[in-house]
Amino acid sequence: MSLGHFQFHEPSTTAEACALGLEFGRQSAFLAGGTELLVDLRSGRKKVNHVISLGHLNELKNIKIEENTLVIGALAPLTDIAECENVKNWFPALCDAIETMAGRQIRNRGTMGGNFCCGVPCSDTPPIACAARAEIVLAGPEGTRSVEAEKFVLAPRVTMLNPGEILTEIRIPQQPKNSGSSFQRFALRRGSALAVASVAAWVQMENGVISESRIFLGSVGPTPLLASEASSLVKDQKPGTELFAQAGTIAAKEAQPISDLRGSAEYRRDVVQVLTQRALQEACERAEGAK
Ligand SMILES: Cc1cc2nc3c(=O)[nH]c(=O)nc-3n(C[C@H](O)[C@H](O)[C@H](O)COP(=O)(O)OP(=O)(O)OC[C@H]3O[C@@H](n4cnc5c(N)ncnc54)[C@H](O)[C@@H]3O)c2cc1C
Repeated sequence: MSLGHFQFHEPSTTAEACALGLEFGRQSAFLAGGTELLVDLRSGRKKVNHVISLGHLNELKNIKIEENTLVIGALAPLTDIAECENVKNWFPALCDAIETMAGRQIRNRGTMGGNFCCGVPCSDTPPIACAARAEIVLAGPEGTRSVEAEKFVLAPRVTMLNPGEILTEIRIPQQPKNSGSSFQRFALRRGSALAVASVAAWVQMENGVISESRIFLGSVGPTPLLASEASSLVKDQKPGTELFAQAGTIAAKEAQPISDLRGSAEYRRDVVQVLTQRALQEACERAEGAK
């Protein structure tokens, strides 16, 4: 199948790209790494008359630390993020999440901005970014705005992006002392396979007790889901196998999975139960500096 017929635009500034996006609206799509968009165009799931390449917006490819924030440009390739020393030191669970994704060729092209903007439930970077209280920066014809990462995806393939808006940055705040995170994922095979379920856990420890916790579930709901009851259950508790097992049971109840080719809803809940235990275990070990 062909990609269809469209006019190709190569704006050199974000403002120009936003203006084109506004002008052509739903008849257009922004192109970042193309690993999702080109598949959608080729399969006919998406049809547009205008493709607006973001490839010349070099300032959106940077990964940098600004005061107390790790700033990941929306167009930074996933490989660059996972291999960046600042990211490894600041928030290693994001590198873990990226390394589970696809194969290297896809990670060399695909971007974190694109992973958020496609809005699919099995995207791997949103759950861990949400757990870390990341902010998403959007630039549009009317200026820029910042939104909490966990509010960005509204429904499968539906995001907060308005016509002409571009995701420019993912901002991850400095992680407090004694905090730790973990991303756990299960797919039907190693290598390039989408997640059956994923769990991202973030904890903060004080005097051997979990003082804060945020558990997000991926691939088991329409958007990344905060497992609020499981997160509350572990708060003010000492880490331990029994506690993590209880949290896993609750997270499995909070999941909203569907049945599809990758697994039944029931199977996915079982997977969530196990992954939650693993994620909490690793997050606590990291918070205590053991890992
Ligand atoms: C073989 C294969 C395996 C894959 N495996 C995984 C996997 O394991 N885990 C996973 O999460 N994903 C996977 N994907 C999906 C995809 O690779 C990722 O979602 C990737 O991060 C998309 O980024 P991209 O830059 O290629 O996005 P693109 O394809 O360029 O764009 C995706 C969508 O987002 C929009 N968009 C992109 N960037 C912006 C922006 N900055 N502002 C506004 N809109 C924007 C585009 O218009 C388009 O609608 C896989 C894809 C393939 C083909």
